[in-house]
Amino acid sequence: MQFAQVIGQAALKEKLRGLQAQNRISHALMLVAKEGTGGLPLALSFAQYLVCEKVSRQSPEPSLFDPTAPTLQTSQTDSCGVCPPCKKAAAFAHPDIHYSFPTVSSKSIDKPRCSDFMVEWRTFLQEQPYGNLFDWIERIKEKENSQGKITTYECEDINKKLSRKSFESPFKILILWMPEMLEKEGNKLLKIIEEPPADTLFMLVTENESLVLPTIHSRCQVIRLPMLSAGEIENNLVEREGASPALAKQLAQLADGNFREAQQQLQHTEEGWQIRLRDWLNAILRTGPLAQVKWVEEISKLGREKQKQFLRYVIHVLETAIRMQATGQMPAVGEEEAAVAIKLNRLIGIEQLEALSREMNKATYYIERNAHAKMLFHALTLRVYHVIQDKVVLLMPSDTDE
Ligand SMILES: [Zn+2]
Repeated sequence: MQFAQVIGQAALKEKLRGLQAQNRISHALMLVAKEGTGGLPLALSFAQYLVCEKVSRQSPEPSLFDPTAPTLQTSQTDSCGVCPPCKKAAAFAHPDIHYSFPTVSSKSIDKPRCSDFMVEWRTFLQEQPYGNLFDWIERIKEKENSQGKITTYECEDINKKLSRKSFESPFKILILWMPEMLEKEGNKLLKIIEEPPADTLFMLVTENESLVLPTIHSRCQVIRLPMLSAGEIENNLVEREGASPALAKQLAQLADGNFREAQQQLQHTEEGWQIRLRDWLNAILRTGPLAQVKWVEEISKLGREKQKQFLRYVIHVLETAIRMQATGQMPAVGEEEAAVAIKLNRLIGIEQLEALSREMNKATYYIERNAHAKMLFHALTLRVYHVIQDKVVLLMPSDTDE
């Protein structure tokens, strides 16, 4: 990824280029970036910049870390994008750029390491560089409620990977996404972060620095990303996502500096999820069985991917409602989501909202396993009715359960 593909953050790109030019990069950088501000894209583009042939100094012993080494200024303000190292970095396959990130265990993988998930990871970076942990775990989880974690096995792997010599570049880079998911295993990394092998750069990218182990936090040079401006989000919705200028303007105002949220809103609007959810709730709460049958018929005609997207959207709205009840504050979501969340909060409490969210997760699980769509959505409709009308939180297993 090139700097040009990272939305905004001009001052930080300049700062990173400056650190490189003066060999003043700290061995451990921590980018603190709230969701949707581009922490991961910035790390990816800086890594590519560092390995690019046009950027890296022609000196026999280039150094990132030694301010006394000769500083050969480069006029390149971005990686070239065409040299072999750039091409490898852009495909997330450069042998000296390593990645660590949260993973989940599954039937076939009981000791998860990032190397088990590289195919999915590269696709995620290509398709959703502004995605969050939820987006990533959705792609790799087998069980519902899987929590991503950077495992102790991965920490051992990091130590192994970084103890080897670099292959092509004069240095090795480890991009560690979500260090807040390290838990105690992180202590295995303290030594290597404190006394890193020569020419090794750690780039940690966190959404929530207060959850990072203090022992790791204290060893890092912290760079904080500001939220994006509404103008930056608006332009990129038009240029990258093909949104109409009027819609882009409206969504950018609501996104609160979070590009992921803006993308999500755009997708929901385009797919008509908002209308579909409203129709569903109306059929369940007001118009009755005939409208429910019609609604189930219609959603059953969509493909499985679309059905899963719709359920994800419903979970997003439920989470909005839960956050509103828990914090008393309105999260940054679209008007339509906020309206539905407010309505749900008048009807039910957090326990019921959580029960509904579990039902949506379970339904997603069955869709992935080729459940009969009509039966599934019919059963789901009844369950939603029971949770809302009867305030039930634990439901009997349905006929779609095994
Ligand atoms: Zn290049």
